Amino acid sequence: MDWEEYRIRGKEVVDYIADYMSSIRERRVFPNVTPGYMRFLIPSSAPETGECFESILADVERVIMPGVTHWQSPYMHAYFPALNSPASLLGDMLADAIGCLGFTWASSPACTELEIIVMNWLGKMIGLPEEFLCTKPESTGGGVIQTTASEATFVALLAARTEAIRKVKANYPEDDDSQINSLLVAYCSDQAHSSVEKAGLIGLVKMRYIESDENLSIRADKLKEAIHRDKENGLIPFFVCATLGTTGACAFDNLKKIGPICKSEQLWIHVDAAYAGTAFICPEFRKWLDGIQEVQSFAFNPSKWLMVHFDCTAMWVKDSSSLHRTFNVEPLYLKHENSGLAVDYMHWQIPLSKRFRALKLWFVLRNYGVKGLQEHVRRGVNLAEEFEKLVEKDGRFEIPYPKHLGMVVFRLKGENELTEKLLKKLNCDGKIHCVPASLKGVYVIRFTVTSTRTTSADIRRDWKVIQDMATEVIRIFNLPPDYVHTTRAIPLAEIKKRTPNFGTSLLLSNSPMTPKIVNGSFVAIFDNQDLVQEFVKHFGNNVKLVTEESPALRRRIKGLMLSNKQYSLDSRIDLMNSIMATIDVSSSKKDGGKNKQKSSETRVKHHSLSSEERNSEEVIEEVEDESDQVHSE
Ligand SMILES: *Cc1c(COP(=O)(O)O)cnc(C)c1O
Repeated sequence: MDWEEYRIRGKEVVDYIADYMSSIRERRVFPNVTPGYMRFLIPSSAPETGECFESILADVERVIMPGVTHWQSPYMHAYFPALNSPASLLGDMLADAIGCLGFTWASSPACTELEIIVMNWLGKMIGLPEEFLCTKPESTGGGVIQTTASEATFVALLAARTEAIRKVKANYPEDDDSQINSLLVAYCSDQAHSSVEKAGLIGLVKMRYIESDENLSIRADKLKEAIHRDKENGLIPFFVCATLGTTGACAFDNLKKIGPICKSEQLWIHVDAAYAGTAFICPEFRKWLDGIQEVQSFAFNPSKWLMVHFDCTAMWVKDSSSLHRTFNVEPLYLKHENSGLAVDYMHWQIPLSKRFRALKLWFVLRNYGVKGLQEHVRRGVNLAEEFEKLVEKDGRFEIPYPKHLGMVVFRLKGENELTEKLLKKLNCDGKIHCVPASLKGVYVIRFTVTSTRTTSADIRRDWKVIQDMATEVIRIFNLPPDYVHTTRAIPLAEIKKRTPNFGTSLLLSNSPMTPKIVNGSFVAIFDNQDLVQEFVKHFGNNVKLVTEESPALRRRIKGLMLSNKQYSLDSRIDLMNSIMATIDVSSSKKDGGKNKQKSSETRVKHHSLSSEERNSEEVIEEVEDESDQVHSE
């Protein structure tokens, strides 16, 4: 394709995008495909010679769209929003075309300077104190765009670690960095995002999960206690990650309570406000920023709610020299003089290079203006309120934790199992998409207002979908016990009790070692039966498993089919792939003769097991026995 053809094709793609966005309601929000669907739709090797653009673009509808979860859809209520907008897409198109890498000021001055300026704009818009901005030559603070909130948290932890080690070495210059590192302790609440846990894991520092109170905010008394206990034991507390807007329930830690504790103990506070940060452009939501003065770093994702599409995480620090000390690898560069003359962003982040992300942010801030963005936030909050009122009117449901901003957590009254079933059926049905969370052992469905297109009518439609499904679920649970016994999934708690090592990625517990939100784990949000059903639908009775070659595979499949066991997404994809790989594809209904030549290629004799399954070989045998018992009852 030359640039003349690009003019034409570019317009076609823009048209396709505009059509996609304006007709998105017509698409099922969660795709109706099973793991491995795509391997039948595209060749197994890249083409030898170039193809025309028409056929490439045509394959987007044929191959890609059937497997897309439509995050921009008004029916998408899972996770948090990941919005785009016309201005953002256009800004990024331009950034991609310019294609500069901004690691130093000189590598592309506009890239660096625009980032400094829009980060000042944005910092002012959400009411950050002046110390976080880079507005004067003597400013030590400033903003930087990181790729994700996870990375911002990790960067903050590393900077705090640098400072902690430096402080110890001021008194004990002989001490080894790694020795000091092994004594460091970080803290967050039991509601913090799993990325905080991950930061501790890869930073090799201990992470303590402090109990949250009845509002799901970190308990300051428990934090203080933990810090003192650690100090008594010769450890070095150095870092607290506070969350404003937790992923599970959009709860808020209280900075005013954490601040004084960390100040007196000289701990670095990082604020993770990934979702809620956008709301602070509205003054009425800034109450949660009270106490921000004692914070060292702050980050939120414009890529969530601010309509700047992924990736874009806005991060500010009060003192950028700690970032410089952490990331500077120039041997001659001993001390950072933050002269304000030039910022080299390579010293503010883990990678060397950075994309020109400031451009899309700039386009969005200018195109909507502060007022436009405030309206957008308030609209989302009002729609969530509307949803909350609908839930409150139906006596079968409850809202166990208060609604904040654009998210409501709700559940069917009674056992967790009921709500779990409801959610799985909703997701299989595909009219709306939600994910669960476990809040102090209480299973809830998180309902987030995401799309800019969501209307009041959409909210009422979605609530009707939920109500109807609830009626169905309650009916199933009221059927005679035998019936329920043979068709229901084994509750997760029960699985954990019986087989503690199996499928831990699915467990909806708030124990620190599991994500606080069930992070899209397929099985946790879908009925297990769909796999087998879809599979049979797809291949009919022509399925011949080459099981003679693998007794282990035969056992696993039998286990899956009989036990109705919950598999993790990984093991499920593995299983699906190993099943597929052993099928003589040419005999399958759907593909007719088309794949005849390929069938010998796809026939493989060895099956790789995921480590989870490898470890659980015994477990599967055990489950098989149980299933047999069920059948003989
Ligand atoms: C979404 C979210 C994250 C993770 O965001 P990434 O940008 O994907 O790393 C972290 N913390 C909280 C509170 C979040 O809501």
